[in-house]
Amino acid sequence: MSSNSSDLFNDDASHKVGVVSVLLPLGIPGPYDYAVPPTMKVDHGDFVTVPLGSRELLGVVWADGTGEVGHNRLKPIIERLDVPPMSRVLRQFVDWIASYTLSPPGAVLRLAIRAPGALEPAAMRTVYRLAGPAPDRRTPGREKVLELAQDGFARTTRELAEEAGVSTAVVRGLIDAGTFEAIELPADAPFGAPDLEFKKAVLSDAQAFAADQLTQRLEQGGFSAQLLDGVTGSGKTEVYFEAVAKALAQGRQALILLPEIALTGQFLERFEARFGCRPAEWHSDLSSRERKRVWRGIADGSARVVVGARSALFLPFADLGIIVVDEEHESAFKQEEGVTYNARDMSVVRASLGGFPVLLASATPSLETMVNVWNGKYDHLVLPERHGPAVMPAVGAIDMRATPPERGEWLSPPLMRAIAEAMAKGEQAMLFLNRRGYAPLTLCRTCGHRIECPQCDSWLVEHRFRKQLSCHHCGYSAPVPSACPSCNEEDALIACGPGVERIAEEVVQKFPQARLALLSSDNLRGPSSHADAIRQIADHEVDIIVGTQIVAKGHNFPLLTVVGVVDADLGLENGDLRAAERTFQLLHQVSGRAGRAERPGRVYLQTYLPEHPVMQALIEGARDPFLEREAVMRERTGYPPYGRLVALIISGENPKQVQAVSRELARSHGALEGISVFGPAPAPLALLRGRHRVRFLVKSTRAIAIQDYVAEWLSRVKVPGAVRVAIDVDPYSFL
Ligand code: ADP
Ligand code: ZN
Repeated sequence: MSSNSSDLFNDDASHKVGVVSVLLPLGIPGPYDYAVPPTMKVDHGDFVTVPLGSRELLGVVWADGTGEVGHNRLKPIIERLDVPPMSRVLRQFVDWIASYTLSPPGAVLRLAIRAPGALEPAAMRTVYRLAGPAPDRRTPGREKVLELAQDGFARTTRELAEEAGVSTAVVRGLIDAGTFEAIELPADAPFGAPDLEFKKAVLSDAQAFAADQLTQRLEQGGFSAQLLDGVTGSGKTEVYFEAVAKALAQGRQALILLPEIALTGQFLERFEARFGCRPAEWHSDLSSRERKRVWRGIADGSARVVVGARSALFLPFADLGIIVVDEEHESAFKQEEGVTYNARDMSVVRASLGGFPVLLASATPSLETMVNVWNGKYDHLVLPERHGPAVMPAVGAIDMRATPPERGEWLSPPLMRAIAEAMAKGEQAMLFLNRRGYAPLTLCRTCGHRIECPQCDSWLVEHRFRKQLSCHHCGYSAPVPSACPSCNEEDALIACGPGVERIAEEVVQKFPQARLALLSSDNLRGPSSHADAIRQIADHEVDIIVGTQIVAKGHNFPLLTVVGVVDADLGLENGDLRAAERTFQLLHQVSGRAGRAERPGRVYLQTYLPEHPVMQALIEGARDPFLEREAVMRERTGYPPYGRLVALIISGENPKQVQAVSRELARSHGALEGISVFGPAPAPLALLRGRHRVRFLVKSTRAIAIQDYVAEWLSRVKVPGAVRVAIDVDPYSFL
């Protein structure tokens, strides 16, 4: 990959006079030159406002001026903001990602300044503290306030009035009398200071060994990467908490990245139990006020630990000292829209630019990460056993050809027996199916018509509880019609295949006494309802859990002993290069929910392919042979991580235009040793949100700078404004 960052960041000279180039958070090719007014001093990294057309925009001084535009024609910088500059490492990181993902640097910068208003001065509030002598005139109301204030805490007028049970007029009287003094404080609540000794876990030998290795890496300083490879329930969290504690002891900040779905209350509570305070959070559900608070706290160093989703990587840490990526194999770390980066990979980049350790944790590491372990780039820290008395669950396949469910049902007799046994013992069972809704396809019995999304190349999924058909790709939704939209026959529509709602229906029929919880993103809106559901399960207010992948991760339910995977073959159907790897990871993760405490767990995989290597690996608990086999296949075919891939998605509303651009692209890519270009081919989702889509796939050996090749190729083709060419480096989705 090309990078000219070394000269870009050669910013030791103190202040920049004359001309600087300013990067704006826009999808434009690069920074623009601006004149520095004679009375202004700016430096690389400074936040400034500049004119662009008739607008005034926030930007960052990126480099010395390029001199491409005559000085007398340059517009001047309007204002330099009085805030900490963007660090050199963060600027390098922005440029690195831009060149790696072939995105405009301004589009990446946008990710780094996505807290509107965070650069404005923080709002203040006035609080009052007992200061002067008590006034001569004492009333019962005044006595109450004085008594309350004895504790020495500063409070707002309203807090004083409310807590003392008096009117604000009484409080004001005391302030006017000089009994209270005013103090100005930031309106934002301060961040808690983690107490490193608050409640240290007593680590097992394996945990202590791993924690020591991490601590040593932190003491050594500098970049290093480690894989914390521990079976589900082995206590990886306790281990990386010790690494976080070490970084904090060094006076530095820590970032813990979780796949969005796992950002649950349970994790935050665990952090609080260990460190005595909540970490700062960063994810898409934050209010804009909270966003500002966190952004500022991270920039001024008062937020010591951030737990966040992938975009937390772009926060302006004052002094970041470690990144932990939990569940590193999760595809949720891949951003699929706009700048398509993989937060796991970019964490490694950020750690290497910042010169500190990065820790990837997983029970089912990605092949990418394992290859880095095998070739010695990453340290390998292993936790081979579950913590405490818990043992790994026994996993078995149910051959659906031999013991099929009744017609129109989805649970096989052996699985039903296992659930019944668990119920009889007062234990819990979980049924997993990674499919939302009631049925994935609605079909007309009379004419065979299948109901499709009008905007996408996909079937509409029936959601029976909501009485709607909806598209899982674009969100289109419509009521379930009573007659077939094609032949108008009444009552002819039938639901084909199961979603979780249908499994829940079957459970209610078969186990009418059991208390059921249905967990999917459709009925758990927002983190609090998710947390409620988790608590109900943990408190044994639920006997049988039916859920999508939302239940797969991270939770500890001591009474959960039976896990049934309704359709273990589901993930293997889409033939993309990681189908087997992902199915293994997901089902292993789901299996890991069983038997987390004293009671041993059993996992049942309903499958039509019991001989498949994924099923065999799960049954035998043979992860590494499975990964090695995958590695051999990928190496032989030159697929990642042994080769590089870039996907191009050409899309537009007019199919003719899309075809024309695709033909032009097909004509203009040059032949180069070590590179193959596949396509154009209609994307599997050939219509998405009303846009027609065509794909190319570029594959190269690792030795080739595939980005340069793609950039050069695209530069040869003129693309009309109505057609979009999206570039996906290291694609994870092939739809
Ligand atoms: P993993 O992330 O590896 O799946 P967890 O970190 O969630 O595992 O740990 C599993 C369970 O074991 C949790 O309930 C955790 O609190 C407990 N645990 C792990 N290590 C210890 C320890 N050293 N002392 C006490 N409890 C522990
Ligand atoms: Zn759709």
